[in-house]
Amino acid sequence: MPKPNLVVDSIVDDCVRSVQDHDLKNRLRQAKQSIASAAQIYDGHGAAGSLYLIAGGETVDTVSAVEMEKLYKQTFVKSKRTRPIYSSLKKACKNDICPLCGQRTVHQLDHYLPVSQHPVLAVTPINLVPACSECNKEKLDHGPETAEEQTLHPYFDNLAQVRWLYAEVQQTQPVSLTFRVSPPADLGDVMKARILGHFTTFKLGQLFASHAAEELGNIRYGLEVLASNSGAAAMDELRGHLRRESESRAFVHQNAWQTAMYEALAQSDWFCAGGYRQE
Ligand SMILES: [Zn+2]
Repeated sequence: MPKPNLVVDSIVDDCVRSVQDHDLKNRLRQAKQSIASAAQIYDGHGAAGSLYLIAGGETVDTVSAVEMEKLYKQTFVKSKRTRPIYSSLKKACKNDICPLCGQRTVHQLDHYLPVSQHPVLAVTPINLVPACSECNKEKLDHGPETAEEQTLHPYFDNLAQVRWLYAEVQQTQPVSLTFRVSPPADLGDVMKARILGHFTTFKLGQLFASHAAEELGNIRYGLEVLASNSGAAAMDELRGHLRRESESRAFVHQNAWQTAMYEALAQSDWFCAGGYRQE
């Protein structure tokens, strides 16, 4: 996802204008510099994959964590001045699909580093990631404590060119698929652990397996028709068809569960020889 290029200073200004309490207005104005520097530090750590190194805090100058949390929920999300910013961040994903699971629709913004531990990042756009409500729920309450614990950050971790998701056909009744993470060996241990952590945290294996089970039921009839029209060449025709389906998905997103699913189906002799009929 493109990283939002909104400046946090002007967001704080807009929030200040919408806050009624004069004392809080003044304290927020004073805290603006700290919020701006924290955003800059965040940007550097985000690019370096080391956001876990950012120390938490209980206040932002004289503004408390509770006040910052309230500023996010009651002012940034709701006020007329800042609501459009909130909405633009939420709407930045392609087709409104959650960038964390790649499946469900976006429901809210999630603080990548939690606001309870990092109040200074409460309204910082690069810390606000669109998410579906399930992914938002699954996320750990505390921030990452090690490099490996960092789930993938949609603004900083671009893994579009790295193939890491694969599937395996299970000879069950009905036929089913399991999904696994297998990043390339040269990716580096930390990034490999982060991908696996992301996959586990957001329960993507279960999510993809249930979508795949649904898809297998939906394509069964089409595969039977294709097989019966192809006579002796049925197996080759099926394999070719499934391979093209995989390639078509991979063209858009090589780590989509559909890419992995159709690839695994095309590679399975058992499936192509009639396993697809298992219901
Ligand atoms: Zn999601």
